[in-house]
Amino acid sequence: MPIKNRLADMHDEITGWRRHLHAHPELLYDVHETAAFVVERLKSFGVDDITTGIGKTGVVAVIKGKSGSKGRVIGLRADMDALPIEEATGLDYASSVPGKMHACGHDGHTSMLLGAAKYLAETRNFDGTAVLIFQPAEEGGAGGLAMCQDGLMERWGIQEVYGMHNMPGMAVGEFAIRPGALLASSDEFEIVVTGKGGHAAAPHDAVDTTLVASQIVVSLQSVVARTVDPVKRVVLTVGTFETDSVASNVIAHTARLLGTVRTLDPEYRAIAEERVRRIAEDTASAFGARAEVTWTPGYPVTVNSETETRHAAEAAEAVAGKVNSNTDPIMPSEDFAYMLEERPGAYIFIGNGDTAMCHHPAYNFDDGAIPAGCSWFAELVERRMPVA
Ligand SMILES: [Zn+2]
Ligand SMILES: [Zn+2]
Repeated sequence: MPIKNRLADMHDEITGWRRHLHAHPELLYDVHETAAFVVERLKSFGVDDITTGIGKTGVVAVIKGKSGSKGRVIGLRADMDALPIEEATGLDYASSVPGKMHACGHDGHTSMLLGAAKYLAETRNFDGTAVLIFQPAEEGGAGGLAMCQDGLMERWGIQEVYGMHNMPGMAVGEFAIRPGALLASSDEFEIVVTGKGGHAAAPHDAVDTTLVASQIVVSLQSVVARTVDPVKRVVLTVGTFETDSVASNVIAHTARLLGTVRTLDPEYRAIAEERVRRIAEDTASAFGARAEVTWTPGYPVTVNSETETRHAAEAAEAVAGKVNSNTDPIMPSEDFAYMLEERPGAYIFIGNGDTAMCHHPAYNFDDGAIPAGCSWFAELVERRMPVA
């Protein structure tokens, strides 16, 4: 079955919701207006149950299938938060809030899941339970984890869970997925190096912190180059290097490095942490300086389970006529990973056409993807829980 006719009919209405959300972006857990908008729509669709305040500001709704019995329970997830970016699209529905923008298309994801909810509540052409998950704080706040910690999976008896993200550079409405690792983990580190400040002309009386920190930066690249199996995927980047000296004739006393380690292989998270600590501390010590390392674990690897990936790909193929079921993994991270740690499931990409990349001030979600995105959610529910 291609795009569902009813969802094609609803295209303008759903586009209206998407543009309303786009004009009113909210950050992290502060998605009160967005959640209220979602709840208002869900009520008007006549869904069976709505719970707010899961993971602070998340919303969970239930739609029961034809027989009304519980049956299989499938979770469908969308994210609601925007980014602290000044929008530069010039659209007539551009952000009305200075410094905030839906630059990752979560306005589109939320609207597509709402569209699917309206369709599923109307048609109930399935036998089981669809749980709709609208989460806050995907952009760095671990809202998905917060919802899981509030008992999302157990309370609603979710057995498998699915999510979707738009992808610039892929044709609008096409789908791509892969089993196994799809997006990377993302851990952060801070290294504070303390030497001994002094006069630039008397380095023998100082411990040159800038030199020590530079040695650390160079040596850190050996973590990936010499510790990791060459066929595995790990990237380490030092993004910030700052010292407390602002003069050409002053040797810095302290230096601060900020970096990130991303990998598709979870076992390398612990190995990388251990290596970063050793290199920083021992290198500093060799020069008579001191290094303090703070390691902050971030989102885990997003791992699609085999069986659910096949279900997701089959639904996508039914909607779009084809699917790329072996797309390359990418190194950004995604907090849907926490839900996939708790239940089998899959995360899929939907094409967003030739737009600016996500997180760019000129990015925009392509409303042309809406019928396909809604249909994928609905198709998944109808295929996984067919009426007997
Ligand atoms: Zn994003
Ligand atoms: Zn996103």
